Amino acid sequence: MRVTLLGTGDTTGTPTVGCDCDTCRSARERGVERSRFSVHVENERTDESLLVDFSPDFRHQFLTRDVPLPDAGVVTHVHFDHIDGLGNAYRVFDELPVHAANETDPKTGESVAETVADKYDYLERVTVRGHAPFESFRVCGLDVTLVPVDHPPLLCYGLAVEDPETGAKLSVSGDTNFAVPEESREVLRDPDLFLADAIVPASLCEHHPLGGRHHDEDGVPRTFGTKHMTREGALSLADDLNASETRLVHTAHFYPSDEAFEEPLAVDGETYDL
Ligand SMILES: [Zn+2]
Ligand SMILES: [Zn+2]
Ligand SMILES: [Zn+2]
Repeated sequence: MRVTLLGTGDTTGTPTVGCDCDTCRSARERGVERSRFSVHVENERTDESLLVDFSPDFRHQFLTRDVPLPDAGVVTHVHFDHIDGLGNAYRVFDELPVHAANETDPKTGESVAETVADKYDYLERVTVRGHAPFESFRVCGLDVTLVPVDHPPLLCYGLAVEDPETGAKLSVSGDTNFAVPEESREVLRDPDLFLADAIVPASLCEHHPLGGRHHDEDGVPRTFGTKHMTREGALSLADDLNASETRLVHTAHFYPSDEAFEEPLAVDGETYDL
């Protein structure tokens, strides 16, 4: 399984348009980018590829990275930065199955699968397939399991992607705060690679109107506001999951410039062979 991090940024990305902060300036100087979230998973055994989330930067990502177009996709939730790239399917794909959770979100009255199907109804080549959380399905020769995480007010899912032949395992936290339910953690546990939402360092919680939550024994907040993990929360979750390797993703340009390019924060274009 070859994993390519196509988009490792939060909803505005780094550099953020119109921003001249030290971190955005440093990204430009280093020639690195954190575009909106997307992960490419290639099954080299079957020569098929699965895309996790459709970034609004889809076109740029596939023009700049040496990866084949996907044979199928998975959508974690319906925020702009994870689904709006699906419009790029128009006149690019002959057919594209897209997989998503089928449980109804009380907030929208629809499941993620239904929202994607409604929104991209005009794309005849896109077919949406709903799946119950915790029920594995096979796509591109890989076993995928969607698990609920905690990203209020919307339902959102993390996922495990496993190669049934080699045992290689990728886990993705999805957009989530630290309160990932234990049953979901069980599915995500023991990955070769864990991609964890780590939007900002815990030190920035004092600037959030709601502050931080889910503090550890030392009083460090593992959740920033209500929706995302802090860097410390993401590393704590990685520890609990016993991840062999962890990359922090969905990171914001609010990281101070001297911390923004430190390990284990990911940048676009990293590849991992599992
Ligand atoms: Zn900036
Ligand atoms: Zn989100
Ligand atoms: Zn997001």
